[in-house]
Amino acid sequence: MKKPIAFLAALISFSAVVYAQDVNKIHKKAILIDTHDDVLSRQIKSGYDLAKEQPEYDFDLVKAKRGGLDAQVFSIWCDEKGDYSNAIREIDSLYALLNRHPKQIELATTAVDLRKIVSQNKLAALIGVEGGHMIDDDLSKLDELARRGMIYLTLTWNNSTKWATSAADERGGKLEKQSLGLSDFGKKVVNRLNELGVLVDLSHVGERTFFDAINLSTKPVILSHSCVHSINPIPRNVTDEQILAVGKNKGLISVNFFNAFVDPKHEEAFKAFLNKYKDEYTALRKENAAGAKKELIRRHYDEFEKIQPSIDLLVDHIDHIVKLIGVDHVGIGADYDGATSYPKGLNNVADYPKLTEVLIKRGYSEKDIHKIYGENFLRVLKASKGR
Ligand SMILES: [Zn+2]
Repeated sequence: MKKPIAFLAALISFSAVVYAQDVNKIHKKAILIDTHDDVLSRQIKSGYDLAKEQPEYDFDLVKAKRGGLDAQVFSIWCDEKGDYSNAIREIDSLYALLNRHPKQIELATTAVDLRKIVSQNKLAALIGVEGGHMIDDDLSKLDELARRGMIYLTLTWNNSTKWATSAADERGGKLEKQSLGLSDFGKKVVNRLNELGVLVDLSHVGERTFFDAINLSTKPVILSHSCVHSINPIPRNVTDEQILAVGKNKGLISVNFFNAFVDPKHEEAFKAFLNKYKDEYTALRKENAAGAKKELIRRHYDEFEKIQPSIDLLVDHIDHIVKLIGVDHVGIGADYDGATSYPKGLNNVADYPKLTEVLIKRGYSEKDIHKIYGENFLRVLKASKGR
C-alpha cells in the first residue's frame, strides 16, 4: 500500500512545481504596468535613493525588479493646498532619478516608448498628475505639464476645483446640486487633454463630473486607481453604471489595492485596531503623522493580520468589472505608497507574483492576465497618443 501513496505524493509535488513554473512563466512574460504609485511625494521629502532598497517604501527599483514590474506610472501628488510649482518640483525629482540611473529606468510617454524600454530590461517610468488644482486654472500650465511628460491628469483629487467636483464632495453632499460636474472651463480642460493626447483620469471625481467628462471625451478614459462600488459602497469606488460607461468608451479601470477600498468590513475593523493601541498610536502620530498607521501595523502585525482581506477579495473586484464589460477594460492601479495597507501577501511591488498565482487559480488565462497587467493600458495609451 505504501507505493501508491508515495506515487501520489510525488505526483502532487511534481504538479506543484509545474504550477509554480507556470505562475513564474506567465508573470515574467507579461508586461506589468501599475498606473498609480505615490512614492514620489514621499521621496521628495526624505531624499531617499529609489535605486536602493527602501524598507519604508512600497516601491523602489530593487523591489520592482523582484516583483517583475515593468512600468510604473508615478503619481504627481500634493494635497489640496499644493499648486503647479509642487507638480514641477516632483517631476524634477523623478527626472533626477532617471538621470542618476539611466541603465535601470527611463521615461516613457507613448506605448511605443514603453515597449522599447521594457525590451531593454529597464523600468519604464510614466508621469500621472493627480489633481486638476495643480494646473492653477491655466491651460498653458496644462500644456507645460504635457510637455514634461504627463500621460494622465486626474481631474480632481479629494478636493473639488473651480471647474470639476470630486467624489468626496459630491457624495459627501457638501456642494449645491446646480454646481456639480464640469464647468465650461472644465470642458475646455477635457478638450485640451484630448488634443494633447493626455489621458483623462476619472478616479477621485464625482459622478456628475465623471459623466460630463466621459460623454465629452473623444478618447478612451482611465480610472487610474479605483474599485467597485457594488462590492464596497464608498465614494471613491465606481458604480455599475459608471463601469458600463467605461466599457462603452473603450477605457480602462485599474483596480486599487487599498484595503479600505477592497473590503467593506475593513474600515470599521481598522478603527477598532487603532483604538486598541490608542496611546501608542497617538505617540507615533506626534513623531511622524504620515507614517504612524503603517508603523502601528508593523508593530502589531499578528493582530492586524486578522482583519486583513485576502487577495481573493481584490480579485472579486476584477471579476465584477470583467463580468460587466469584459477583460479588455481592467488594469492594475495598486496605490502603493499612497494607501495604508493592502490584501494579505501584497505588501509591496515585490509581491505582484502572488496576484498572478491567485488570478490563475481563479481561471484567468495567460492571455487574460497579460491584458489585465499591461496590454489594456498600452491599448488605451496608444489610442490617446496615436502611438
Ligand atoms: Zn488617489
